[in-house]
Amino acid sequence: SGKFFVGGNWKCNGTKESIAKLVSELNSAKLESDVDVVVSPPFVYLDQVIGSISNGIEVSGQNSWIGKGGAFTGEISAEQLSDIGCKWVIHGHSERRHILGEANDFIGKKSAYALEKGLGVIACVGEKLEEREAGKTFDVVFEQLKAFAEAISGWDNVVIAYEPVWAIGTGKVATPQQAQEVHAAIRKWLTDNASTEVASKTRIIYGGSVNGANSSELAKQADIDGFLVGGASLKGAEFATIINSVT
Ligand code: 13P
Repeated sequence: SGKFFVGGNWKCNGTKESIAKLVSELNSAKLESDVDVVVSPPFVYLDQVIGSISNGIEVSGQNSWIGKGGAFTGEISAEQLSDIGCKWVIHGHSERRHILGEANDFIGKKSAYALEKGLGVIACVGEKLEEREAGKTFDVVFEQLKAFAEAISGWDNVVIAYEPVWAIGTGKVATPQQAQEVHAAIRKWLTDNASTEVASKTRIIYGGSVNGANSSELAKQADIDGFLVGGASLKGAEFATIINSVT
């Protein structure tokens, strides 16, 4: 439900030169018009990308600080992202949860602040392999959703990204059925904990080893409203194929 949304999370990749090439590939790609497309370069290349990207593509930060700027070495504030023309920010990504140790309540607060400052938030949730194997997928995902819900004042401008940790960067994509099952559960959770309107309007996108060969089967699932793409978003032609897999 909602307009199809495809994000490219470039993570900590690229150089001025490779990013210029990628942007020019994206600018000249033929993209379906009925898709929201967002790319998320490393902070140091945001300005370069914002100044050169076209084709209706918006730009996202990969993180933002919990509050107003100040003496927070190494951090970037939501105000600064807005100031340079970013429209979005990613929060709750599994790499920040599990490598950097970010906790649910911290992620919730950062998202709330970013929303307050007018950014859209790509709110990521997802279980680890051992959690899935222990039958805890829904518990983990609902707990993560609850932390967002408790901090933010509404789901407008939030896109939920379901990214099972075992599928990220592993080449082991969730099957369309596995992804659909969790997406449907997230939508039901929104119905029960927000409203039917929020549940039907909020985009729930899938991430984890999405590529040009598997995106169209995934896109056919009833509750998959788009993708958050890592590795394959670094290749212009393949990212365009994923964008154009909208059904
Ligand atoms: P990959 O597409 O490289 O698996 O990464 C997914 C992801 O983490 C997007 O945020």
